Amino acid sequence: MASLSLKHVCKVYPNGFEAVKDFNLEVEDKEFIIFVGPSGCGKSTTLRMIAGLEDISSGEFSIDGKVVNDVEPKDRDIAMVFQNYALYPHMTVFDNMAFGLKLRKVPKDEIKKKVEEAAKILDLDKLLDRKPKALSGGQRQRVAMGRAIVRSPKVFLMDEPLSNLDAKLRVQMRAEISALHQRLGATIIYVTHDQTEAMTLGTRIVVLKDGVIMQVDSPIKLYNEPNNLFVAGFIGSPQMNFVDAKCKIEGGNAVLSFDKFKITLPAEKSKKLSAYNGKNVLFGIRPDDMSDSPRDMEDYKDCIIEANVSGYELLGSEVILYFNIAGVNMCAKVDSATKARFGDHVRLAINPNKVHVFDKETELTITN
Ligand code: ATP
Repeated sequence: MASLSLKHVCKVYPNGFEAVKDFNLEVEDKEFIIFVGPSGCGKSTTLRMIAGLEDISSGEFSIDGKVVNDVEPKDRDIAMVFQNYALYPHMTVFDNMAFGLKLRKVPKDEIKKKVEEAAKILDLDKLLDRKPKALSGGQRQRVAMGRAIVRSPKVFLMDEPLSNLDAKLRVQMRAEISALHQRLGATIIYVTHDQTEAMTLGTRIVVLKDGVIMQVDSPIKLYNEPNNLFVAGFIGSPQMNFVDAKCKIEGGNAVLSFDKFKITLPAEKSKKLSAYNGKNVLFGIRPDDMSDSPRDMEDYKDCIIEANVSGYELLGSEVILYFNIAGVNMCAKVDSATKARFGDHVRLAINPNKVHVFDKETELTITN
């Protein structure tokens, strides 16, 4: 397998549009890297530059230390799995998987061995004689994966490979891709719109916005320690609540006030806010870090907010309560034991250790 290095990589399309700006990323061997970001942020463009399907306008891309900017896609030893994984309808599963190897004039017995090995890994070994129309969506997607696996490439690139599947199949295939990554010890770069896929599959996630990397980190670090407002809002579902707040330093602690509420931050967080005394900041709290359980209400009794419940969604073990504070729509994910219902006036405790604060001008994180 392989390590990849992108240094100051840029993409300017012929019409002058700058789709990727100064992209820097070192991918270690066997990493599972996820690209996420809003539509049009440059995920596919970057992936296509790595595959060699799109020219790199400036910067350097290397595989295992060798610069490959000008190396043909077929010579990069990279396999790509797309969202539209069109299989050849008139060919069997075996022939679909063997096709690329045949084109490369790989000897017949070697093709057979490789296809059978891949079929075993993907649990397709009993389906090798079938045509695509006699397969389920998930099985077809696995054949598409198989076509990539038989090539034993250095790197797998996957561009939203599960987005055509229904919800149940996606969950199943997600687990299969994760297992495949372990089994093959492969270096994978994976583009997705799906939060859960990003959080569960990736060893590291690259968050992109307007062609610029906003943050590269492990899923848990992105969730707990976003670098800026954009990442804080993009990672996590339901998304983090944000409200304008005034910061005051009182006896060594930062007190953030909004509407009629005051939240006193712990000493460690307060230190980072010393330069913001008297200033406006953005207060952020994840829905999961608010609660109405008696225990949290007691533990965080100095950090209570109140509101009228304008929406109630039962998810199973949890409930999402919607409300409005200072003109901002917010939500809290609380235990389903909550007595709160639509229209009720609720009191919610905010865990002050989990508060995030952002600079209003730079939108950078002041404290997480
Ligand atoms: P999505 O999630 O919608 O697939 P993406 O993040 O993969 O989006 P890209 O397909 O990489 O986005 O496109 C990045 C930007 O480059 C978009 O604004 C797109 O309109 C623009 N773009 C893509 N191809 C071209 C092209 N051939 N010429 C000019 N602009 C292009």
